[in-house]
Amino acid sequence: MQIRFLGAAGEVTGSQHLCEGTVAGEARRFLVDCGLFQGGRDAREKNERPFAFDPASLDFVVLTHAHLDHSGLLPRLCAAGFSGPIYTTPATRELLKILLPDSAHLQQADRERAERRQAKGRWRGELPEVLYGQEEVQACLAQVRTFDYGLTFQPVPGILMRFHDAGHILGSAIAAIDVAVDQVSPPKTRRLVFSGDLGHAGCPLTPPPELVASADVLVIESTYGDRLHKTMDQTRDELVEVVGHTLRHGGNIVIPAFAVGRTQEVLLLLAQLVREKRLPHLNVFIDSPMATAVTQLTAHFRDALEEDAQEMLAWHEAHPEALRLKLVSDVEESKALNQIRGGAIIVSASGMCEGGRVLHHLVNNLPYRQNAVIITGFQAHGTTGRMLVEKARTVRLFGQEVPVNASVHTLGGLSAHADQGGLLAWLKGFAAAPGQVFVVHGEPEASARLAEVMHERLGWKHVALPERDVAYPC
Ligand SMILES: [Zn+2]
Repeated sequence: MQIRFLGAAGEVTGSQHLCEGTVAGEARRFLVDCGLFQGGRDAREKNERPFAFDPASLDFVVLTHAHLDHSGLLPRLCAAGFSGPIYTTPATRELLKILLPDSAHLQQADRERAERRQAKGRWRGELPEVLYGQEEVQACLAQVRTFDYGLTFQPVPGILMRFHDAGHILGSAIAAIDVAVDQVSPPKTRRLVFSGDLGHAGCPLTPPPELVASADVLVIESTYGDRLHKTMDQTRDELVEVVGHTLRHGGNIVIPAFAVGRTQEVLLLLAQLVREKRLPHLNVFIDSPMATAVTQLTAHFRDALEEDAQEMLAWHEAHPEALRLKLVSDVEESKALNQIRGGAIIVSASGMCEGGRVLHHLVNNLPYRQNAVIITGFQAHGTTGRMLVEKARTVRLFGQEVPVNASVHTLGGLSAHADQGGLLAWLKGFAAAPGQVFVVHGEPEASARLAEVMHERLGWKHVALPERDVAYPC
């Protein structure tokens, strides 16, 4: 077998891992994740270039979770000739039905905006390509096959697979893939484990990532491989401080949040704090049709949530006045929020402030000192969210420089990703060191630090930082 890391190698987005080899006497090839590159200057070029392999030659695809940096190129893969099954969990399929059509819609909107600017002579260079439309999305969704956590299934003879709960977002999975490498009897197998994105054990919404006892080859994420999150208690205290202070001073709070996961986690935390009487009753606007849909889906899949979260959901249903949720659907309603000068909490996508309705809210709220922005998730290099975190004095939105006078707060404890301690805790679940470990899905410093820590604390020797597009025998 060999693995080629075609994305998320030395960076955080674009997860795409190609596994190929002879399995039970047959040449086999499968892909784990097929994500969009996001943020940074060259993301567009990377998304637009042809696949590094013939999509029609894949036997199947494994999808660890629905986030677009893992799933967002799937419709393009199918349109380019892949016609086999895409294996994932049932909740991930439901999320894909929300996320992929939205991704197609955003691409179309970007293209049209660029065309309008070009017509006015205000666009230089190539227009952004629409990677796929709604038709391609529907065709791709029809190829999805689902299996619950813990069930073993056989995608092709000689390969057995199983999903474990990764605790990252609804439906997120660690994929354990047993590959029969030759035809001796009994067949010798190698276990490939792909962590996908691993959840934060302290996350109030999802359970901690499930431990896996053995692997011959481990591919692990390292988003926060060099950092420790603040504790959940610190995070709660900070949220009380920022929200309480801002509301007392007549300001608004804008929370750019990923529609999937972060939005629901923020709501849960706010509801808990109101319940504990640490915050007054709140008016919260969810200004993202997608976040609204995912919030409803989360309630539907409530059995998959952490027990406390299930209990909080029931409490909120009995006390809707404690957290008055207004689900903003149309654009006019969204624009009406611009008139609110204080007292509102606005949760809106996108989480890295790279598009979506949150941009309007930032334009309206950033210039005023009494307002606050709360950053809740990872912000990739080159994104507006990252600039806010790094205390930029102005940010460029809709072609204008917007002064940043509002206070900006980062709540690290709300991350959907395990921190270094969480990653180590999960790694300690292996009874023995995997024969080979590949550290992916991190900025170079984060991946390198995690690799070092694996040497130092676990004594693991075969830890590699793979380069993009290089084939590694395994
Ligand atoms: Zn993710």
